[in-house]
Amino acid sequence: MERKCPVCGSTEIITGTLLSTGGVVFTPEDQPVTRIIKKSSYIKALACKKCGEVFGFKLADIPTKLTD
Ligand SMILES: [Zn+2]
Repeated sequence: MERKCPVCGSTEIITGTLLSTGGVVFTPEDQPVTRIIKKSSYIKALACKKCGEVFGFKLADIPTKLTD
């Protein structure tokens, strides 16, 4: 993953996880509607310490875990 801000070019990057109450998750669309517990993954992200740009969104889990 590129550890450089795409806006200002700073290399002072903070890593973190996107959260709201209970956490923000990514859920694939093509899942059976009947599935009670949806497959999902938390999202990791990078933030620029200088300008505040948030970028580099990445699934915390292995992507195949969501489709298999
Ligand atoms: Zn920046």
